[in-house]
Amino acid sequence: MNNYANNEYDTIVVGSGPGGATVAKELTQNSQKVLMLEWGDYNPVTGSKAQTVKNTGMPMQSMLFTHNMVGLVRGLTTGGSSIYYYATCFEPPLDMLKNYGIDISGEVDETRSELPNSPLEDDLVGPMTNRIMDSAQDLGFDWNKLPKFIYQDRCRPQCWRCNYGCPHGAKWNARMFVDQAFKKGMQIVNRARVKRVIMENNQATGVAYTKNFMEYHAHAPKVIIAAGGIGSPVILKNSGIKEAGGDFFFDPLIAVFGEAKDIRGGSEIPMSSGAHMVEDGYVMTDMTIPETMYRGFSAQKGRLDRLFAHKKTLSIMVKERDRLGGHLTDKGGVRKKLAPGDVKALKHGKERAKKILKNAGAKNIFSSWYVAAHPGGTIKTNHLLDSDLQTEVENLYVCDCSVIPESFGLPPTMTLIGLGKRLAKHLAKQEKTSKQSNVYSAA
Ligand SMILES: Cc1cc2nc3c(=O)[nH]c(=O)nc-3n(C[C@H](O)[C@H](O)[C@H](O)COP(=O)(O)OP(=O)(O)OC[C@H]3O[C@@H](n4cnc5c(N)ncnc54)[C@H](O)[C@@H]3O)c2cc1C
Repeated sequence: MNNYANNEYDTIVVGSGPGGATVAKELTQNSQKVLMLEWGDYNPVTGSKAQTVKNTGMPMQSMLFTHNMVGLVRGLTTGGSSIYYYATCFEPPLDMLKNYGIDISGEVDETRSELPNSPLEDDLVGPMTNRIMDSAQDLGFDWNKLPKFIYQDRCRPQCWRCNYGCPHGAKWNARMFVDQAFKKGMQIVNRARVKRVIMENNQATGVAYTKNFMEYHAHAPKVIIAAGGIGSPVILKNSGIKEAGGDFFFDPLIAVFGEAKDIRGGSEIPMSSGAHMVEDGYVMTDMTIPETMYRGFSAQKGRLDRLFAHKKTLSIMVKERDRLGGHLTDKGGVRKKLAPGDVKALKHGKERAKKILKNAGAKNIFSSWYVAAHPGGTIKTNHLLDSDLQTEVENLYVCDCSVIPESFGLPPTMTLIGLGKRLAKHLAKQEKTSKQSNVYSAA
């Protein structure tokens, strides 16, 4: 066993997705000494298929399956899943969080002034998105362009690489916050897989992690676990907090495809427009995906006749707000069945998507199998965390999608940035109070 990093840090942050990267960036801006431990690498994002498969397609690591074969994908690299997300900026559930004593409205306003979050300019919206949006509006749906975390001046028309990680620096991702923190002095150790939290007298004092098959310990007075909706509960379970990982949400989705013979496309920014069907419990968006992914979805459904129709195929995503349920195993295995109500809502959305596609002139309509991309609620606030995101163990915090106490059915990145900023402010306040009390006691 080796001690790779000693007691020279104020805070250890485990994981560099939107939750971890935000809190780390804010803490370093506040002159805190931060050590970040990240399982994935820090290789430049190339936008290539090979790199995407390496970071999101590894069975048992980044590509997980339930017993019913619902696929759950996460990004294991610096920046986490945000390297591969669609960069659509959805409103956080401010009222729901307030019910749990968490107010992030100020932090969300701050984020809006810090990051891009406008709908795409018309010249970046592809013909497939326009066709779907026109059809949905024609049928009376409140379907509009959606705000994007995209620096549009760096974006290329007809670029489809959002799915594979943006090599042009146009899509905001959490690695950009890691880079900012790094410039301010944060240290990051990559390929460091944290196994458990080290505790003494019910206080967190560090973490144990493996790198190159060796075990290391790192110590700091505060530990923030931000390894994502699956990674964080596994670390807590291994640290003795066995209830972590129960009763979670993962926002299952299906894609509905249809061939429009008069269109030639396939290279577009996904999730550029859509509608939130609140009453029906789902959100619908356009979702043009790269050819390889499209072929994977077609093959999985046995639609070999559709394998070569990518450029003519319109695609709509239906993402459902699922009921809490299931559990994670100690090793991170995902055990969750879709409840009958979840299947019903997805079917409802599928029928609506078919109608929109038919009205858009599409034929040969079929849908994909279920996929999920936002695991959360695995370490819920008010259950295993207080409203400052602290666990029952002193100085041990969680800051990622795990902490969200209820399913809200929308992509959560803006919410996670807000939570990260709020936690950093709380820790800064705590630090100030403890310095002041030290001064008083010295006097
Ligand atoms: C295809 C796809 C499209 C999406 N589109 C959108 C969208 O348009 N809008 C939106 O808001 N959201 C979107 N999301 C969801 C969004 O990306 C995630 O909800 C978000 O990244 C979760 O952030 P997080 O901080 O909770 O965890 P993650 O992003 O999962 O980051 C966790 C980090 O922890 C690291 N880690 C895990 N275990 C360990 C360990 N044991 N030790 C050390 N490090 C560890 C991982 O490598 C990773 O870097 C999408 C997701 C996917 C997959």
